[in-house]
Amino acid sequence: MADPPTISRTRQAENLLEVLRHSGVLNVERPRQVYCNRDINLADIGIIGFDMDYTLALYDQDAVDSLSVDKTLARLVEERGYPDEILKLEIPTNFAIRGLVIDTHRGNIFKLDSHRHVGKVYHGFREVTGDDLYEYRVNSMRMTTPRYALVDTLFALPEATLYAALVDYFETAQPDKDHDWQRLYRDIRYCIDLAHRDDSIKNEIIAHTDQYLERSVELALTLHKFRSAGKKLFVLTNSFAPFTDHILSFLLDDILPEYPRWQNYFDIVVTGACKPEFFTERNPFLRVDSTGTVLDKEYSQFDSSAIYQGGNLIDFERISGFRGNRVLFVGDHIYGDIVRSKKSSAWRTVMLVQEMEQELKQAAALREENSRLEELELEIQRVNEEIAFDQGLKYKVDALLNESGEPRVDEEALPDFDPDQLRSARDELQKNRDHLRRRRRDLLDEILNLEKRFESQFNPYWGLLFKQGNKNSIFGEQVEVYACLYTSRVENFAHYSPLHYFRAPRQPMPHERY
Ligand code: IMP
Ligand code: MG
Repeated sequence: MADPPTISRTRQAENLLEVLRHSGVLNVERPRQVYCNRDINLADIGIIGFDMDYTLALYDQDAVDSLSVDKTLARLVEERGYPDEILKLEIPTNFAIRGLVIDTHRGNIFKLDSHRHVGKVYHGFREVTGDDLYEYRVNSMRMTTPRYALVDTLFALPEATLYAALVDYFETAQPDKDHDWQRLYRDIRYCIDLAHRDDSIKNEIIAHTDQYLERSVELALTLHKFRSAGKKLFVLTNSFAPFTDHILSFLLDDILPEYPRWQNYFDIVVTGACKPEFFTERNPFLRVDSTGTVLDKEYSQFDSSAIYQGGNLIDFERISGFRGNRVLFVGDHIYGDIVRSKKSSAWRTVMLVQEMEQELKQAAALREENSRLEELELEIQRVNEEIAFDQGLKYKVDALLNESGEPRVDEEALPDFDPDQLRSARDELQKNRDHLRRRRRDLLDEILNLEKRFESQFNPYWGLLFKQGNKNSIFGEQVEVYACLYTSRVENFAHYSPLHYFRAPRQPMPHERY
């Protein structure tokens, strides 16, 4: 195997790439770009923090989903007395996406748009349509009770998939029973939580790490690039020290000669951080060893060779000396990492959305279909305007003719007024309007069919992650509101200068568009 590239050689290549990018000769491909919602100048940032799971460590989603499903099913049988038969169920790994909501009373799962309107709904793996969908939408408008559970992390995807699979299973196995869907949800939540807490998921990942994670030089180079620009780096993860040590060793140890151990990249390492509580409570920082054994607490400085556990925002800012908008935090959990840090602090945020990479590649492959959709939307707008115009004319003609067809206006106002001519104009308008209405119906059908086909190329059940119909999905909206930047992986920052000024596109409100 070839030796890892040395820093100076890589630096030269990177500098050249940067010059080429800035001169517009090279563009970063869309799936690897960093997108900006809120202006941010990296030159103003003093310290950059990283969540670990699904941020520094991008697990193979299908592999982790299957693992969580297997461990949770086993616990449902052992701990909750579910029938052995469920262990043989074929459970798809492509069902759930982030941003779904589980209705624990009705056994349904649905996707919301940015206005909190219910879009698609599934009961088990069957899509709810027609009158059932209408009735459900009307009755599920307010989501304030614990009845609804939000699927907001990649770790929670198997929870939604298992809920759908077991709703299907029980309805088929016991069709006449009045099922307790709330209890089913509680049992799944309890068992998946247990599988995380008793380490059975982690032990499997530790034993076969290369089946779940890929080791690449790019991550190391990205961190190195930030450090070379004088940025301090930290880790803030909910995983505890032994797992963190194993995963970050796998990803970073001995990749670059200057950084033999993963800890060499970071100035502060906080494990077991208990986010979102880290941002709202006042838990102490404990110093632990790599097995998680507590060594001591209370100190005035962070030691870059130490591993900490717990902690809180206020003490972090006080001890590190970095506060507010000098801190940039990169995480994948919209609530625990992004929303909470945004609401409780002035930290700037980067949301990691690993799904974007695949979704943007797919969108590029479907560019023609997308342009056709845009054309159809424009065409339907034009037809609507014509219908409205014809309708206006017809009202005017009607106003000139009374019921018996005689003119209502005096001859002086319209000296050459011919009622027959007006009547035939009205018939023409009527015919034209009927024709336009038929055209509108055809266009709508074409849009719906195309939309369906387009969306099925993404997630076959739910379509696009960031969209619901022609609106943003609730997930898309939260990313837009809470994340200053968003991107598919940490390594994408390697394509930009560590002092890059990210600028958000100006987004006019509807009343500002002319
Ligand atoms: P982070 O993303 O690095 O902050 O860490 C996420 C941690 O949360 C991982 O150690 C997961 O195993 C753990 N985790 C995810 N979902 C659950 C759960 O439902 N119960 C308990 N731990 C969880
Ligand atoms: Mg995470």
